[in-house]
Amino acid sequence: MVLLDGKYTSELVKNRIKNEMAEMQTKGLRKPHLVAILVGSDGASKTYVESKERNCQLVGFDSTIIRLDDSTSENDLVQLIEKLNIDNHIDGILVQFPLPKQISENKITQTIAPHKDVDGFHDVNMGKLAKGESGFVPATPLGITMMLEAYNIETAGKHCVVIGRSNIVGRPMSLLMSNSAPYGNCTVTLCHSKTVHLEHFTRQADILIVALGKPGFVKANMVKPNAVVIDVGITRVEDSTRKNGFYLKGDVDFNEVKEVASHLTPVPGGVGLMTIAALLENTLKAYKFQLKQTL
Ligand code: NAP
Repeated sequence: MVLLDGKYTSELVKNRIKNEMAEMQTKGLRKPHLVAILVGSDGASKTYVESKERNCQLVGFDSTIIRLDDSTSENDLVQLIEKLNIDNHIDGILVQFPLPKQISENKITQTIAPHKDVDGFHDVNMGKLAKGESGFVPATPLGITMMLEAYNIETAGKHCVVIGRSNIVGRPMSLLMSNSAPYGNCTVTLCHSKTVHLEHFTRQADILIVALGKPGFVKANMVKPNAVVIDVGITRVEDSTRKNGFYLKGDVDFNEVKEVASHLTPVPGGVGLMTIAALLENTLKAYKFQLKQTL
């Protein structure tokens, strides 16, 4: 079994971006700038946003975190995003979810200008993905295809089964794998909680992508021998013996499935790291677009 190492693959992407940045600096160009908005004090959200900021700095991007408190109104957040939308020195905007209940996540998603929507959640970008056109692809699905590509895993003509149909992972993943470019050409089956006889489909998968948020859900008997298995799940499982009080567990039973799969991602150290690499890639793309508009 080949371990699909997110640390190794994300470093490849980050080094490539870092080199590109160094070249741009010699031309006197400004740096890409990502703004992340964090509303409230959710621990996991804070960790994710800070990790995104660290990684931006690592590759030579500017990065700003705007911290707002839990009581922020939807209107105030909309106004802030509208200001960022027209600021030529800001290339990418992301709002960390979940948001407090008084703010509609859909309203906020649709307020971010599509050309700064580095999370790829805006209807315009989702529509482009559905039509197979170029736009911003949500970072987790994009990161997964970058990983498959880095390991030279052939996708064309393969049967890809995706478990989970969320708008941030499963659904865009299924679209990306079914599209003809830049990486895909699979025959795709999208499964969800109403799928009957789930294992009937998963056992046919050459590539199985699992994103349902149920730790250890996929067992060896659900996997076709020599399948490529991508575990997107990240659940914090309470563990009082650990310093931080939890450990991270994926949706795939790693110890069982590693005996059957040809390739498998670990959790942690797999898809999560590629998500950040893909976000950097999207930010670079947004920057290049902005540069073209303003030069
Ligand atoms: P979500 O919005 O809760 O969606 C879960 C999906 O799984 C839904 O479509 C649901 O079906 C489906 N599902 C639930 N139980 C099922 C079952 N028994 N059989 C088949 N399908 C089932 O979750 P998400 O946001 O996509 O996240 C999924 C997991 O990925 C979570 O653990 C999350 O933390 C993780 N994640 C990781 C990254 C990363 O960077 N690694 C990024 C994002 C998310 P219905 O639609 O029918 O309800």
